[in-house]
Amino acid sequence: MARYREALCRLCRREGEKLFLKGDRCYTEKCGVERRKYGPGQHGQRRKKLSDYALQLREKQKAKETYGVLEGQFKRYYFAADKKKGVTGSNLLQLLESRLDNVFYRLGFAANRRQARQMVLHGHVTLNGRRVNIPSCLVSADDEIGIKEASRKNVQIEENISKIEHRGLPDWLEVDADNFKGKVLRPPTREEIELPVQEQLIIELYSK
Ligand code: SF4
Repeated sequence: MARYREALCRLCRREGEKLFLKGDRCYTEKCGVERRKYGPGQHGQRRKKLSDYALQLREKQKAKETYGVLEGQFKRYYFAADKKKGVTGSNLLQLLESRLDNVFYRLGFAANRRQARQMVLHGHVTLNGRRVNIPSCLVSADDEIGIKEASRKNVQIEENISKIEHRGLPDWLEVDADNFKGKVLRPPTREEIELPVQEQLIIELYSK
């Protein structure tokens, strides 16, 4: 499957804000946005006035890049969100936030969503006791996410667990680092989804 393989910091610099794609580095002065506060490329330092369409597009790109989702899949999330009861924008973010790779990252078992995705793909992650290797698998309330017994000595996982207390845990999740597992207590509310995105602009873009 196609994946974005260029420098991640370029994505943040293009959006002009931190998308926290690299984990711990994002909180240091080495962060690309901190070091170069302008867009990437030859014309990155030009000031541009964005049209309404461009603003909507940028918000969509921000959400897509944050969760590491490609265009087709992102659009399917939009259609699913539109079918659900409630506010489509909040539904969309709730669906993205409920992806297994995202929840694994939010629990603190991975340094960033990319790493979480790779860990799921490599079969280190269990869902309700069964190994699952589909990062886009959606979790729901009372689901238990764990680390496969044979993977608990993985260097990366050990390092992440040693830092788990310093990473904030959202209220909708519960973690038991000693037993390498976590639980979804309930779906996240919009306020609990820390994402600097104006989701109504994404909805406006897709509902044209
Ligand atoms: Fe974005 Fe993190 Fe790179 Fe900073 S370090 S530009 S937040 S990916």
